[in-house]
Amino acid sequence: MKKMLIVVMALSMVFMLAACGKSGSSDGENGTVGVSMPTKSSERWVNDGASMKAELEKLGYGADLQYAEDVVENQVSQIENMITKGVKALVVAPIDGESLTDVLQKAADANIPVISYDRLIKKTDNITYYATFDNFKVGVLQASYIEEKLGLKDGKGPFNIELFAGSPDDNNAYFFFDGAMSVLQPYIDSGKLVVKSGQTKMEQVATLRWDGATAQSRMDNLLSANYANANVDAVLSPYDGISIGILSSLKGVGYGSASKPLPIVTGQDAELASVKSIIAGEQTQTVFKDTRELAKKAAQMADAVVKGEKVEVNDEKTYDNGVKVVPSFLLEPVSVDAANYKQALVDSGFYTEDQLSK
Ligand code: BGC
Repeated sequence: MKKMLIVVMALSMVFMLAACGKSGSSDGENGTVGVSMPTKSSERWVNDGASMKAELEKLGYGADLQYAEDVVENQVSQIENMITKGVKALVVAPIDGESLTDVLQKAADANIPVISYDRLIKKTDNITYYATFDNFKVGVLQASYIEEKLGLKDGKGPFNIELFAGSPDDNNAYFFFDGAMSVLQPYIDSGKLVVKSGQTKMEQVATLRWDGATAQSRMDNLLSANYANANVDAVLSPYDGISIGILSSLKGVGYGSASKPLPIVTGQDAELASVKSIIAGEQTQTVFKDTRELAKKAAQMADAVVKGEKVEVNDEKTYDNGVKVVPSFLLEPVSVDAANYKQALVDSGFYTEDQLSK
């Protein structure tokens, strides 16, 4: 009796977990696809995982969805497990783009095709396709927003700006930063934008693992070392989680009042907390990337590769992973601020009004 009870309890837990759409495995008539995601600590990847699972199920596949909590070794062993279980294909968003060469060789030996998801997997021949956004354009959108709001095109300035970039092991971070600098560098050169810290190189402004707390402490240091007698007018931030850290640092030294307004702070992903912050007048901008569309694309790619069908791509030159140029499908990012969030995020069904007003 006791044993039965334990079995029943264990089974109902399994069902509960499956119903919540958490990590785990589900079967499908066409087999299972392994989906390896970097971390649940950012809402975006939780949404990506849920959408991937739903899209794969529509196509008759189960999903083995795993999150590695930003630990490279976890991701490698989760992928190894998926290979052992005999998944039909792998869809992988790498934590460190250069650390999967060995495990993906094992996938290739087992004839399991791999799709690179959102972030490019580097240093391997063993990926088939890449589904992502126009990552250079993400940076262009962030920097153009700063350019427009400061009136730089109209010759206004000089203004003080500080720069942040993403994780140096993520290929996307370079694309975002290069895109942004393609807009900002001419103003830095002409003196209309001043980086008081002097930190303008990727290696000086990168934020390991996109960590908000790391960004916050760097911002604390920047402010105390360079802004005792000056205000910062804009901060280039590549990701909402980093923007939140930057904003806490700014508020900690008195920004956010009429006499000392917050600077323009950009972001990326339109995460719920940041959209609310935009509505509340704190963060200024974010870049919305519709991860529902990305998941749909990646699931279609996986399905086509498994069936040996043609895969639709729209870029065959940009993403060189060090071994080959990976055929890619790039989706369009959208700049969002207080003026257009309703149209971009509510009308598109990404959030409800209710979610944003709570
Ligand atoms: C993604 C961004 C995300 C960042 C941090 C990047 O690779 O493209 O959307 O903000 O990782 O998770």
